[in-house]
Amino acid sequence: MFENLSDRLEKSFKILKGQGMITEINVAETLKDIRRALLDADVNFRIAKKFTDDVKEKALGQQVLTAVKPGQLMVKIVKDELTSLMGGKFEDVNLTGNPTVILMSGLQGSGKTTFSGKLANLLKSKKGRHPLLVAGDVYRPAAIDQLKVLGEQINVPVYTEEGNMDPVKIAKAAIKEAKNKGYDVVIVDTAGRLAVDEQMMNEIAAIKKAVDPEEILFVVDSMTGQDAVNTAKEFNDRLDFDGVVLTKLDGDTRGGAALSIRSVVEKPIKFVGTGEKVDAIDVFHPDRMADRILG
Ligand code: GDP
Repeated sequence: MFENLSDRLEKSFKILKGQGMITEINVAETLKDIRRALLDADVNFRIAKKFTDDVKEKALGQQVLTAVKPGQLMVKIVKDELTSLMGGKFEDVNLTGNPTVILMSGLQGSGKTTFSGKLANLLKSKKGRHPLLVAGDVYRPAAIDQLKVLGEQINVPVYTEEGNMDPVKIAKAAIKEAKNKGYDVVIVDTAGRLAVDEQMMNEIAAIKKAVDPEEILFVVDSMTGQDAVNTAKEFNDRLDFDGVVLTKLDGDTRGGAALSIRSVVEKPIKFVGTGEKVDAIDVFHPDRMADRILG
């Protein structure tokens, strides 16, 4: 992931790493290269500009021009800025409910159902939780079957109501079932559409209102770049979600979504999906991601 961005950033530091005497012109060229690399990674123009402006200010403040190793200092400044662009610190999911209700949102194909299974598996195996998965995508029988298969794989029960087309009622009944049977996390998968539409938004807003979830996660395909950011904004305006899940980071995603989403919607990225298998999930640490980008 982000290979191209990593290569480009590495190259942009070359000028500063290779020369004895550093001039303001060298720094300006490096910043220009960094900005181009960010734009090519599908980072929004304004974010890329602000990023390099901030780096420039820090570079001048920390006297890059007279530093013994200006290249290294610059890499550190860029790393810190990348970390802060992606949210600064790791933010975990809120599991304080009794039971905790986690609502999944996002477009069809973003990876919601797969991620629901991954999260249930993670909470079960790493946090000793007892999750219940809920099939709330009532329009696609295939989605219900997919969740059932996932549930079997990870040995987590899946709540379904054959023939019931009301996801609000299903979600409420599932929570009741969880209380009765002692499940402490209820993960509600919901229907998505290929594009944002009013009916989908109304439906998920109604589920939110009815079940008052501890956590609403917005799941988005990182390969969709700036579209991912725009969709995030639309969902957040409507749902005021709590965290972002970036899926398909194992593909050749350019990185724009990972770098931009946080500053556009001001919500943390909490998890990433790194493959189709049920254990292909990572919690998101901005500093570790910045390390990976800069190699
Ligand atoms: P939903 O419509 O949002 O529920 O999306 P699905 O969970 O059905 O996922 C859509 C497709 O993306 C499926 O083929 C998944 O196997 C695939 N997928 C989901 N997450 C990832 C991921 O992190 N990496 C890769 N490579 N594929 C993924």
